[in-house]
Amino acid sequence: MSTMPVVRVYNLGYDVATGIGELLHTTTVRHAFGMIRREVADPVELTIVEDRIVPTVLELTRELSGAWVEGAGQRSIGFSFRAVHERDHWTCAYCGRSVSKTPACEALLATVDHIVPRSRGGESSWLNLVSACKECNNRKAAKTPAEAGMNLRFEPYDPARAYRVGGQVEALPVLLAG
Ligand SMILES: [Zn+2]
Repeated sequence: MSTMPVVRVYNLGYDVATGIGELLHTTTVRHAFGMIRREVADPVELTIVEDRIVPTVLELTRELSGAWVEGAGQRSIGFSFRAVHERDHWTCAYCGRSVSKTPACEALLATVDHIVPRSRGGESSWLNLVSACKECNNRKAAKTPAEAGMNLRFEPYDPARAYRVGGQVEALPVLLAG
């Protein structure tokens, strides 16, 4: 579908001349632009795709020293619907409003949305679940975000595969191929 390259993310200290550095993970061009915008990483190698200049290699602006958010790759956060809400800071992934188990109004009841609906084979997993208010969840129903015309405001991630850089949590995407 996409011809966009996979972007490699290196720890601070990447040597452009030799290509030697500590490869942390790979990510999408879209996510890479987000990291650049938040000044988490700088583009150090670029290419042109469809008349756009896009990064192929990023270098973190601060050195990552094994500061894993939740253990070094261990599944130390138990998966639960509540944990999904905590990961998403009790914020609806679609409208950005705060959700709660005891909301002031019914519309803001905290629900967990399957991005790919269960009825379409969507799993109950970190990467397929987000916090959603009851109103958005009802509106989305058994559709994908694209079908419902509802955009995710943030990407879900597996907390056991995330690290913190300069106050930002960066996910380690599971999908490595474009
Ligand atoms: Zn909502």
